[in-house]
Amino acid sequence: AKNRSSSSNNNITVAVRVRPLLRTESDSVVHVVDGNILSFDNRRSSSSVSRSKVSDIRFAFDRVFGPAASQESVFDATAKPLVDLVVDGFNATVFAYGATGCGKTHTITGTPTDPGIIHRTMTHLFTRINQLSETQSTFKTTVSYLEVYNETIRDLLVTSSNRAPQSQLDLREDDEHRRVTVSNLSEHSPKSVEDVIALMELGNSNRIKAFTEANAVSSRSHAVLQVCIERRDINSDMSRGNESNVASSLKIATLSIIDLAGSERASATQNKGERLLEGANINRSLLALGNCINALCSDKPNHIPYRDSKLTRLLKYSLGGNCKVVMITNISPSSTHNEETHNTLKYANRAKNI
Ligand code: ADP
Ligand code: MG
Repeated sequence: AKNRSSSSNNNITVAVRVRPLLRTESDSVVHVVDGNILSFDNRRSSSSVSRSKVSDIRFAFDRVFGPAASQESVFDATAKPLVDLVVDGFNATVFAYGATGCGKTHTITGTPTDPGIIHRTMTHLFTRINQLSETQSTFKTTVSYLEVYNETIRDLLVTSSNRAPQSQLDLREDDEHRRVTVSNLSEHSPKSVEDVIALMELGNSNRIKAFTEANAVSSRSHAVLQVCIERRDINSDMSRGNESNVASSLKIATLSIIDLAGSERASATQNKGERLLEGANINRSLLALGNCINALCSDKPNHIPYRDSKLTRLLKYSLGGNCKVVMITNISPSSTHNEETHNTLKYANRAKNI
């Protein structure tokens, strides 16, 4: 396995989560070696030149979670550390990458009895906000939930009384305040985790209702939850009307939690440093995301191609700079997903230029 410690960008963490074999699957080709390394048996790959040879490939990542890893342990090592950063005014992003059926939605949303990252993150966030509200600060928390599908942006949190979910929204880059806003996107002010979950349910029902081919669409669209936290320090705010003091007391940050489109249509190039090749039907935002992360992790990040897709334009101030980014790469252990698994591991590996 190659050594990850040489990577130049510590703001980007790449984790891999191997889901359990499903009842219909029998043959596991992915083995977790330890908390950082997994091996992948590529023998059965149809693209393999010599099928008969044993070809265990080892990959190293910041974290590797095996099939038995709990939702809680995944949360603790990925999204949980981001909450304190966001409360302190730094943007943070966590996304699930992988082929359809490999565990992205399980990781991000989970089930009512075993919730995923959104539920656990919001629980932790509201706990922190309540603690800090007792002494130092006041908070305003707003939430939006949108979908990027075919390079169009749709608000998922509209009800029948206002706009139709399929109307297309535009991005506005506000470079002065280092933020990107979506015009006419609805904003909501949840007071509890239950409020957030109700909003997610509304949003997910809009996702399904808007299209007849629900499964095909959800696997090709990115679902983006953005939580904006405004924190005001009570003491500075009340001080003598000193402008700089007041300005420094306000911190605004966005936490983005993203269930990405299925990666089965994107394929990584063999050579690192090369841009991902874009072919027919390949998801432009997914390719652009990989290229942006790759550029951010290069030794001299200069041009970051945010403008190449809607998703990366939206995330312009949520990927680079002081932002903390966690990529959770979901893979299946089943030999039937061999080729997708190999492509996904190459994308994740290439993301950090190792
Ligand atoms: P994706 O969103 O990437 O298409 P899903 O999250 O829907 O994939 O997962 C596909 C199937 O595998 C679902 O039935 C899901 O419940 C199951 N699954 C995925 N990850 C896990 C896991 N870690 N533990 C148990 N079941 C899982
Ligand atoms: Mg899914």
